[in-house]
Amino acid sequence: MNTTTIIEQIRAKGERITLPRRLVIDALGYTHEHLAISDIQRHIQAQSPGHPVSDTTIYRVLQWLKDLGLVSQTDMGQIGIVYALMSHPHHHHLICLTCGTTITIEDALFIPLRDQLRRDYNFEARVDHMAIYGQCAGCSQDQSHPA
Ligand SMILES: [Zn+2]
Ligand SMILES: [Zn+2]
Repeated sequence: MNTTTIIEQIRAKGERITLPRRLVIDALGYTHEHLAISDIQRHIQAQSPGHPVSDTTIYRVLQWLKDLGLVSQTDMGQIGIVYALMSHPHHHHLICLTCGTTITIEDALFIPLRDQLRRDYNFEARVDHMAIYGQCAGCSQDQSHPA
C-alpha cells in the first residue's frame, strides 16, 4: 500500500488531508523503517524546506493516524517511541533491557493469542507492533554465570 492509497482511504472516511497531514504520511511512506517524531521532522525539512511542521503538529497527526488504524505506535525503550504505517510488514520486537539489542519477530506468533482472546473474551485484539522487554541470550548468560 503506497501513500496515495493511504490518502484515498483517509478521504473515503470523510477526513480532510491538510498539508501537515500529507507531509507526515509521505515521511512515513518514504521508508520501511519506523520513525521517531524527530526523524519525521528531519524528513519533512529535507523534502519540503518551505513548510516546517512543529513536533506538536507531527504528534497530533500521528495520533489521528493511529485512531484511524493506519499507524502503529511502539515504545522501543532506549530508542524511544517510534511510528510506522500499518501497511509495513507486520512484525514485533524483543528488546533487551540490559544491552538494548532488538530482535525482530514475526506476527504469526500472535495469531494464537488473538484467536484465544476472541474466543474467551470476544475481544478483537489489535496487536499492531509490540515491543517485548527482557534479556537477550548473551545478557541472561552473563547473569547466570557471574565472572
Ligand atoms: Zn518494528
Ligand atoms: Zn542483551
